[in-house]
This record gives sequence, C-alpha cells and structure tokens, in this order.
Amino acid sequence: MLQQTTVAAVKSYFQTFTKRWPTVADLAGAPDEAVMGAWAGLGYYARARNLLACARVVTLQHNGRFPETAEELRALPGIGDYTSAAIAAIAFDEPAAVVDGNIERVTTRLHAIETPLPAARKAIRAFVDAMTPSLRPGDFAQAMMDLGATICTPRRPACVLCPVSAGCRARMEGRPEEFPRKLAKKAKPARIGAAFVARRASDGAVWLRRRPSTGILGGMSEPPSTDWSSRMDGGTGRDAAPFAAGWRLAGSVAHGFTHFDLVLEVWTAEIDADPATEGWWATPASLVDEALPTLMRKAVAVAESTAPATKERSR
Ligand code: SF4
Repeated sequence: MLQQTTVAAVKSYFQTFTKRWPTVADLAGAPDEAVMGAWAGLGYYARARNLLACARVVTLQHNGRFPETAEELRALPGIGDYTSAAIAAIAFDEPAAVVDGNIERVTTRLHAIETPLPAARKAIRAFVDAMTPSLRPGDFAQAMMDLGATICTPRRPACVLCPVSAGCRARMEGRPEEFPRKLAKKAKPARIGAAFVARRASDGAVWLRRRPSTGILGGMSEPPSTDWSSRMDGGTGRDAAPFAAGWRLAGSVAHGFTHFDLVLEVWTAEIDADPATEGWWATPASLVDEALPTLMRKAVAVAESTAPATKERSR
C-alpha cells in the first residue's frame, strides 16, 4: 500500500484491510470485487490486483507461508527486485541488495556515478551488493533508507552530520546535489475521453459497469466511459454514448495518472428502463461500497450536482 502513497493516506485503508482480512488465507478467499472496493481511492489499482493474486499463490502454492529468499519472493505476483530484497533482508536476514530511491541517491553520491538514471541502476545495484554486510543486512538496508530520507536529502544534504561522509566522492568534489543524474523528463501526454452517468429517475441510482481486469483502473467500477488510455484519446461528445438517452453535458473532470493527464467530459441522463448493456444499478446508499476509483467518483459527483431531485428524495 505504501508504494507511491503516504502513510497518512494509507493508514485507514491498512486498518480496514487487516481487520477485514486478518490473515493471508482470509485475503486469498475474498471476492475480487470486495478487495477492489476496499482499495478504491488509493490509486495504482494494479497493486490491489497483485496483492490479491499474491495472497492466493502464497495460500495455494506455499501452504500459507511466505517464501524466505529474495529469488522465491520475486516469483510472487507484484513483488519485484526492491520488495523481494527488502523482505528477504529485513524479515529473513538474507544479505540481499536493497535499492530504493533513497539508497539510489546515497549510492550515486558516494561514488559520484555520472551515468544518468535509469541506465545507472545496474552499477548502483553492484555497489550496494558489495556494501551489504552478511551480518544484520536488514538493519543496513533500513539505515541506508533513513540516511537518504533524513540526511542525504535531494536538496541541501547535511553532509556534516553524515556517518559516511569520509568516503563520499560527491561531497569531496563539493557537488552532492548533482547526483543522481537524470535524463530530462518528457512532457506527459494530455488525453481526453467521456464518461456517461445514467441515473434512474425513480431513486437516483447510477448505472455502473466493471472495467476489464487488466489495463488502467483494471477491475474497478465506472459509469460507462469511452476507450481512453495513455496512448490514445477516447471518444467524446453525445455520439460516443454507450446507449441512447437524453444525454446532456454536466461538466468535466481532470485526473493526473503517472504517464498521462486525462480530462473526461461528463454526460448525464435520467432514464427509467435498464439500458441494454452490461452493468448494474448502484443506489445512492450503496455507492460508497462500490470499487469506484477517485476519477469516476468525481465524474458521478459532477453529474449529481446537475441532476434534478429524484422522486424518492422529494418525498
Ligand atoms: S556526505 Fe553528503 S552527499 Fe555524501 S552520502 Fe553523506 S549526506 Fe550524502
């Protein structure tokens, strides 16, 4: 949960998750929709899919016990080089080379590595591998992370307080802030699309569908939206609607993904009959439990703000 997200944002999700599914076997037995619903709002939804897939592999193929080596851990869904090394070093005392963003920064400065990221990663790993002790490798990894987070900071590192300053090339050369070198960032593409929020006239329920299980926001719920992605725009305008209704433009929502920015037009309509497409009605009371990502929750809110009062509410 903490990958790319702050402790403050994660705290309540973590508590809810561990209360609802206290063991790896409990999580493995949970329905996909329940897990995606409990994750909704945290973003990076592939992590939730991988977490669930990982719990199932650990339960079914490893008798409910996590494997203990970096190599075996890396074979689990969603666990890459960094996580496998960190778990192996911290939980199982394996002298695995742990390299996160903080350790990358400290290492490129210690050795004044001129190659820009990401090409420098191989050399960084080799240096970290050589530095990692066989005694208390987990403490070493955490000490390096803390050094990067508190002393060897991106700007104005506190070299006078640094316990490894004597051997640091970047400090000796008076240019620690020049590392790590990075290639100039490409501008993020701006994509467009449309979301269609159909509301049931009788009670204000919203028509939702499930997104495909792979790809962006995979497995999450949404009011039907057009085929937008990081690589292409989706359809826009009334003609892009998934079924005929009295669609009117309610507004738009913007959202920044890691690799692109997206603006969705929000169209809304009141209908009586079920549309002839796959999906289900989510009543106003059940919307909170739906696996709606933040972007789609915003789209529903925009539609809601322009909707006429329902019969139920006006009673
Ligand atoms: S001496 Fe300065 S630049 Fe070098 S590792 Fe320590 S804090 Fe970072």
